[in-house]
Amino acid sequence: MYNNIVMFMLKSVNINSYKELNRFYSRLRLYKILYYKDSFCLFKISNISDYDKLELECVIEAFNIKDKKSRISYVYDSACNYIDKKYVNENICEFKNDRCLYQRYSNNKFNNGCCHDCKYLVGDDNKYCGAKCLGCKVYFCPFIRRRKIVGHMNDIKVIKYYYSLFQKIIIKLDIFKERDVILDDLYNSSLIRILKIKIPKDV
Ligand code: SF4
Ligand code: SF4
Repeated sequence: MYNNIVMFMLKSVNINSYKELNRFYSRLRLYKILYYKDSFCLFKISNISDYDKLELECVIEAFNIKDKKSRISYVYDSACNYIDKKYVNENICEFKNDRCLYQRYSNNKFNNGCCHDCKYLVGDDNKYCGAKCLGCKVYFCPFIRRRKIVGHMNDIKVIKYYYSLFQKIIIKLDIFKERDVILDDLYNSSLIRILKIKIPKDV
């Protein structure tokens, strides 16, 4: 009987092609309603890229976390990790010697591997973000957006499927802030909370 209960609660997921992956994502919102008490386990994944596999693993893990706060913080951390792994290699902002395309074009004074000067820059020569700010990670300035096709927040599946519209707006507004401050806004997301967010002047 115990086995039967386990079988009932565990839904195995097999993905062997992008067609199956896309079908899984297209049904995910329905699965969240039908199987909200159950858990998914990844049985077999093949014929998709390592990045897509990593993203799918995060989506499955997020599905299996039933506590709301834990899921919000898991989605936050896994989205940060995913962006760090995938987009750093792509170098969308075309950093050279720690200066991005905009900094080189406008010949401004910044030379820190980030958009601008920030109190959260840490490490040798203040070149690393100590804030783990998801808003900054998904932010692209108008200069770069006019010149290149850049990603959208919804391209990151854990954000797309597990954050509400209010939470996505909070991510966009909470830039240049630390992880714990942003998480607190995400836990308590509401229109009133959004209206209270102070947007930095130099965005
Ligand atoms: S978003 Fe704009 S200012 Fe920020 S690093 Fe990219 S190109 Fe530079
Ligand atoms: S919080 Fe944003 S602006 Fe500040 S160092 Fe981190 S990524 Fe750069």
